[in-house]
Amino acid sequence: MDDILKEFNEILGNVKSYINYQKMCGVDVCPRESIVDRSDEPERQIDMGERLTNEIDNIQRETEEIVPPKSAKNSGDISGLMKELESCTRCKLAEQRTKIVFGEGNLDAKLVFVGEAPGGEEDKTGRPFVGRAGKLLTKIINAMGLEREDVYIMNIVKCRPPENRNPQPDEIKTCEPFMLKQLALINPKIICTLGTFSSQTLLRSSVPISKLRGQFHDYHNIKLMPTYHPAYLLRSPTKKRDVWEDMQMIMKEYER
Ligand code: SF4
Repeated sequence: MDDILKEFNEILGNVKSYINYQKMCGVDVCPRESIVDRSDEPERQIDMGERLTNEIDNIQRETEEIVPPKSAKNSGDISGLMKELESCTRCKLAEQRTKIVFGEGNLDAKLVFVGEAPGGEEDKTGRPFVGRAGKLLTKIINAMGLEREDVYIMNIVKCRPPENRNPQPDEIKTCEPFMLKQLALINPKIICTLGTFSSQTLLRSSVPISKLRGQFHDYHNIKLMPTYHPAYLLRSPTKKRDVWEDMQMIMKEYER
């Protein structure tokens, strides 16, 4: 009986993983299989992925314990850090920015995403990863079975580089200590660096992201998984499969 249950759970897990991967790739609906001839009706579609995911979630929810509400044990420290950065002019990125994009999410997060720098939408709103690339990141997080509120999201530099150019070494050097303080306060179990810049900066490496990704690295006793930046995935959608592999490794570690 235990073996059958185990096998059943494995199958459910695989189905859910496949559906979530398809969702991450933007496949939200699939055509309904025709039982009767509907050739003269307009095409009907149902959200099959969502329905299956909901059913699986319902089964799992029944067996889950009630999770206590998320605490904000570090909120005071983080507010202090935010205050320290208020109106910051420590580097030249201050000249053209609209808003400082500090970071947001769960202060008790087990998983933190670290990107490179804010873009146009982020600069306007003061929130990280809210543009097109950010929406894809949200899809990836959801495909992992999480919400944005479960994780913490931030960048290495907190102000938008003009014309979205790469942050320069002096800017990274000046802003990086704030990111390190954020990481120390949140103390996550896993860090996922998004793209070349954040991966190479945290790992003090010049190895290309294509070689860094796909495995965990040690970052002060925290497991660090480098992966491609969502903005790169928008230009190279075939790399989504690699990212999904990285996310599955993260989820295994996350649930351990
Ligand atoms: S990027 Fe960082 S160090 Fe530079 S001005 Fe913005 S907050 Fe200050």
